[in-house]
Amino acid sequence: MDGMDVPALLWFRQDLRLADNPALAALEGRRLLPVFVLDDAAAGAWAPGGAARWWLHHSLASLGRDLASRGAPLLRARGRAEIVIPALADAIGAGEVLAGRLLEPWARERDGRVAEALAAAGRGFRLVTSATLHEPARVMSGSGRPYAIYTPFAKCLAAMAPPEAPLPAPTRLLPVQNPPPGDALEDWRLLPRQPDWAAEFGTLWTPGEAGAAARLARFTTGPLGHYAVARNDPGIEGSSGLSPHLRWGEISPRQVWHAVLAASGGNQARAWPFLSEILWREFSYHLLWHRPELPEVPLRGRFAAFPWQPDAALLRAWQRGRTGYPIVDAGMRQLRWFGWMHNRVRMIAASLLVKHLLQPWQAGAAWFWDRLVDADLANNSASWQWIAGSGSDAAPWFRVFNPVLQGEKIRPLRALCPPLPAGTRRPARSLAAPPLGGAGCIAARRRHHARPRLPAPGGGACGGAPAGAGGLCRAARPGAG
Ligand SMILES: Cc1cc2nc3c(=O)[nH]c(=O)nc-3n(C[C@H](O)[C@H](O)[C@H](O)COP(=O)(O)OP(=O)(O)OC[C@H]3O[C@@H](n4cnc5c(N)ncnc54)[C@H](O)[C@@H]3O)c2cc1C
Repeated sequence: MDGMDVPALLWFRQDLRLADNPALAALEGRRLLPVFVLDDAAAGAWAPGGAARWWLHHSLASLGRDLASRGAPLLRARGRAEIVIPALADAIGAGEVLAGRLLEPWARERDGRVAEALAAAGRGFRLVTSATLHEPARVMSGSGRPYAIYTPFAKCLAAMAPPEAPLPAPTRLLPVQNPPPGDALEDWRLLPRQPDWAAEFGTLWTPGEAGAAARLARFTTGPLGHYAVARNDPGIEGSSGLSPHLRWGEISPRQVWHAVLAASGGNQARAWPFLSEILWREFSYHLLWHRPELPEVPLRGRFAAFPWQPDAALLRAWQRGRTGYPIVDAGMRQLRWFGWMHNRVRMIAASLLVKHLLQPWQAGAAWFWDRLVDADLANNSASWQWIAGSGSDAAPWFRVFNPVLQGEKIRPLRALCPPLPAGTRRPARSLAAPPLGGAGCIAARRRHHARPRLPAPGGGACGGAPAGAGGLCRAARPGAG
């Protein structure tokens, strides 16, 4: 058999899509077995949380349908990947295993073990860039070091050649003969039951590649036009809502990049308010790659001894949306009901927890990890460290979001948050604020989401670095890396 006749194993991880999937494209014309492995043991504390599992269930169902319709059904298996993947590769006589590169520290360690096990059996393990626009290892400052500050990092990337055009989805796939049996998705019990706390998620989200494409189209034909202004208003649909789709790789950052650029008439400066957010994501991954301690340890060493005041009651009040600050409580309920929270409210809620209530940022990050459908180790960890002021970027400790003033500015979200029952008390360590809050407001929330309001045309002020701005960076030079 020559190379093209030897089957390959295609390992889906956080790239649950067929379009612009470089690992899939590299296998064109070859017999392949598509596989997804649920490996909670390797991920440990960073195994998908409750909300992300809801997403994963539906995303895998969607991917399974898409693959089956093209002729190569998805095989699902559970267990240690360094055992499962080599065993499956052996069963089909695979010459090699292909996958998108993961940047999480636990996954890097695990992939090392998988590579060793495959190599021992004479099989290859090929990782391709899939989750980010660029390999973090290839983007370095002029001094040859990783970037620690967002602005020069973004300038560097803006000056680089634009990301390559996305790859099309294959129309037909060649399956392996006699594939081994896999697990039924339902047997993984990824969905919550008794109670089904995710019952409302489906009113807002459609996991899967088609849902991601529809979300992108909705954004580029609507909110994108006002994004620079509207993205900061949690009361309207002003941002893309693409974060969970990006997190699971149902759409690639370069697909998003090119679609937004095209919808902006090819004008990078016009698209920059949005593209710069994609670069914040890229920057988070850059940090995670170069500083793998990011999820657990403050990047600024002097914060290691910070005198937090852990208090289970305060933490619980925050988690349950009972702080007494309307904007925070509304956001925490949005999180509970829909598995998502607007960026500005995430910042205000996180700032309250860390800077007013003096709870360790890791406790807030852990709660978000369990509750967000877009829970992403790079973005979540980098954002919490940014809020805490312990990250690598310039985020001074004295930068505090005032939850009262912010709440005054952002009134529309109050619809999510009617008054607390009479006699309910705010936690002792909160600032003076009217005690609003309360558990049941389904009607208000339904109303709120049934009619997303867009701002009147006229926004569009461009923030961030202009396209093509300078900045030294090695990867910008041809052949560097
Ligand atoms: C405390 C805290 C925790 C966060 N945790 C996560 C998380 O777990 N997962 C996650 O994807 N984002 C996280 N973010 C970043 C941001 O809040 C979300 O990406 C954004 O709200 C998602 O909504 P959107 O897709 O409509 O964003 P848009 O405004 O439409 O932005 C487009 C995309 O850019 C990326 N992006 C936007 N803002 C940021 C940012 N500040 N940092 C990194 N990437 C960004 C996201 O992939 C997003 O989908 C967190 C922010 C804070 C303050």
